[in-house]
Amino acid sequence: MRTVLPGATLGILGGGQLGRMFALEAKRMGYRVVTLEPSPDSPCGQVADVQIEAGYSDPGALRRLAEECDVITYEFENIDAGAVEFLEGLGKDVHPGSRVLRISQDRLLEKNFLRDSGLGVTAFMAVDSEADLMEAARTVGLPAVIKTVRGGYDGKGQAVVSDEAGALAAFRKLHGDHPLIWERKVPFLKELSVVACRGIDGKATAFPVSENIHVDNILDTGIVPARISATAAERARSVAKSVGDALGIVGSYCVELFLIEGDQVLVNEIAPRPHNSGHYTLDACVCSQFEQQVRAICGLPLGSTEVLKPSVMINILGDGKGNTLFGADEAMREANLVLHLYGKTQAVAKRKMGHFTVLGDSVESALAKALAARALLRWG
Ligand code: AMP
Repeated sequence: MRTVLPGATLGILGGGQLGRMFALEAKRMGYRVVTLEPSPDSPCGQVADVQIEAGYSDPGALRRLAEECDVITYEFENIDAGAVEFLEGLGKDVHPGSRVLRISQDRLLEKNFLRDSGLGVTAFMAVDSEADLMEAARTVGLPAVIKTVRGGYDGKGQAVVSDEAGALAAFRKLHGDHPLIWERKVPFLKELSVVACRGIDGKATAFPVSENIHVDNILDTGIVPARISATAAERARSVAKSVGDALGIVGSYCVELFLIEGDQVLVNEIAPRPHNSGHYTLDACVCSQFEQQVRAICGLPLGSTEVLKPSVMINILGDGKGNTLFGADEAMREANLVLHLYGKTQAVAKRKMGHFTVLGDSVESALAKALAARALLRWG
């Protein structure tokens, strides 16, 4: 593939905050950006050169995107893989490609792929009937997490079950057109993630491991470097690189992991795009996950993933109590805090409105300052 140099136009399917941060980095590097997104005035559309306001699968809009852009990527995995195939069919480079998208948007394909690639995952089974459910309870075991195979994110479309009655209730609630996946619940010590990036030449780089704290299944806090042993950190980064190689992915991606006893890691899921847990890279690293994405899809050499300072990232979620964020001025008295807001006007409960990152000389000092800053923020 030819190198796409600054001055060229990058396309992005999806107009959310990941697209916005990608566009900001791409524009800093001298690229034009076109986003395809149905919601007007989207977080990405606000900073892109052009927002094509249409559905992600609209053939006319996809054709226009292909005409205007030199290379295309996407910012979330719930777009139709058929839309990416359509662009590929027009002869357009889309990174990561439709195959990666297909695998990562289907939890069964994904888990089978990981297992077949020799990577550690929890025991699992496809469940498409009540008979399957009883078999899963016997063979895979309880407690379990039952999940929809497609479309779930941030804990939506899943249930933790500890007995057969609970499993049956969850099955009846969640089962629809697709089978469900029954996963043995992992007794994890910590949740981790590694954002990595793989170039067109197959060279991969992995950022340091993030230790992730979730609240209500939504990422709340990311701590980097993760407070884990060097062995566990090395394993996590090595697994992340192996996932990228196995997928043949081009671009930034995230591997979410469970840390279990014995410094072992199991893969929970893959996101074929920059990830919330990698936002710290914008402020704490030489090169961010978004810059890496630009470099990878443009065929440029990847940058350094070195982390310059320990950091703590905290998400700012809406709570439905108002659309104005108060306290940012007080929080910013902490001079090592960097605030990112995504330009969303409606602070609906649990909606990701922004995040901030605090840098410190140690993870402990960054964490203390970040928690103090969070206590100052409120919606009204
Ligand atoms: P997911 O949508 O797969 O990322 O799951 C959301 C959250 O549910 C994860 O961050 C974990 O906290 C929890 N979870 C998901 N799958 C499992 C599992 N097999 N065992 C234990 N916890 C899980």
